[in-house]
Amino acid sequence: MPPALQPVRGTRDLLGEDSVRHTHVVETARRISALYGFAEWQTPIFEDTKVFARTLGETSDVVTKEMYSFEDRGGDSLTLRPEGTAGICRALITAGLTQTLPQKVFYHGPMFRYERPQKGRYRQFHQIGLELLGPATALADAEAIAAGWQILNALGVAGDVTLNINTLGDAPSRDAYRAALVRYFTQHADALCQDSRLRLEKNPLRILDSKDAGDQELVAGAPVIYEHLSEDAEKFYAKLKLALAGFGVPFVENPRIVRGLDYYNHTAFEFVTTALGAQGTVLAGGRYDGLVAQMGGPKVPAVGWAAGIERLAMLISPPAEKHVNIVIIAEPDDAAQAQAISTAAFLRSLDIGVEISFQSGFKNGLKFANRTGARWAILADGENLALKNLVDGGQSGVRIEALAEFFSK
Ligand code: ATP
Ligand code: MG
Repeated sequence: MPPALQPVRGTRDLLGEDSVRHTHVVETARRISALYGFAEWQTPIFEDTKVFARTLGETSDVVTKEMYSFEDRGGDSLTLRPEGTAGICRALITAGLTQTLPQKVFYHGPMFRYERPQKGRYRQFHQIGLELLGPATALADAEAIAAGWQILNALGVAGDVTLNINTLGDAPSRDAYRAALVRYFTQHADALCQDSRLRLEKNPLRILDSKDAGDQELVAGAPVIYEHLSEDAEKFYAKLKLALAGFGVPFVENPRIVRGLDYYNHTAFEFVTTALGAQGTVLAGGRYDGLVAQMGGPKVPAVGWAAGIERLAMLISPPAEKHVNIVIIAEPDDAAQAQAISTAAFLRSLDIGVEISFQSGFKNGLKFANRTGARWAILADGENLALKNLVDGGQSGVRIEALAEFFSK
């Protein structure tokens, strides 16, 4: 025998309860986001590499070391999407919808990053996300966050998470803050990790997001953006906080939240939990007013977030697995088999769920029925049908029309 084939490192199969948890997260997010007027979009899993390379930031972890990029047979450089926002913005431009704003988008699906696999961190993982494309007002940021909060509530995990918010300001605030950071980190350049010394030249803000322990000590003493905010940026941030309070979403302010991708301005936020060890961020996002223009579209202000389905799935108590409640069992002769088939086809055509036992004969069939957890068995002997209650064992002869009526209720 050849050796059994292995799954690719960092990928997981979702079987049984894992799949139920996963689907529950997606369906809950879809239901709640519809209450806010979000509509679902689906974009391709791979895109032109430029869709990500041009937008996520040349010093971001994702672009420098995590992308699954490959050349296809035609010589084009393609990348398995590492996140959802860039593809949604590309689709907005492709469809000409930049003329029809706002667009409120819900999406979900697999994402791919070449990371060191560990609990809550995989190479193929899944996200749900919302994007609010068009509005420049802080009310939109608050709405996106409120929808995220309501989804976490509906999943029963709101008690486990804390919302951290921050502002990254506008361009003038960012320039002033950047200068302050460069001054500070240049004084401590020797203590920075090698990656961060490069970040100091290219994008000093990125150092605040460093996962290096030594860097994190330095970051703790670094200047914060608040004293560098322009009047506009300050107003925007104040309006966000007011609107969040209005929506009843509790939050704390955390000046260290910068997010891992370059495209954010003004609002940045994360819902974090202590229940998942190092992988504590479950839902994160912010405002990205420059992204659509960076992709060759017009200037379209926007705000959005994404949440890791695997991390949420670990926090929820799963809903019960759904199963079919009726099993049809035939005696082992051709007439009984035909009767089982026609009975199943008839009930299924009425949207009544039934399984057929692959084991014929009542004894083996009942074993199968009990294993599936069904409540009812329909016994077919080739002439007559009997309905058996698998809970109390009661059994009586029935006609198929009576069955249809009984199970339609
Ligand atoms: P982290 O700091 O944990 O690497 P990130 O800043 O790279 O997260 P985002 O790009 O903002 O994460 O993605 C949003 C969410 O997607 C994260 O908060 C997390 O829940 C989930 N996520 C990101 N990368 C992974 C991964 N490799 N495996 C599982 N979930 C992930
Ligand atoms: Mg990451």
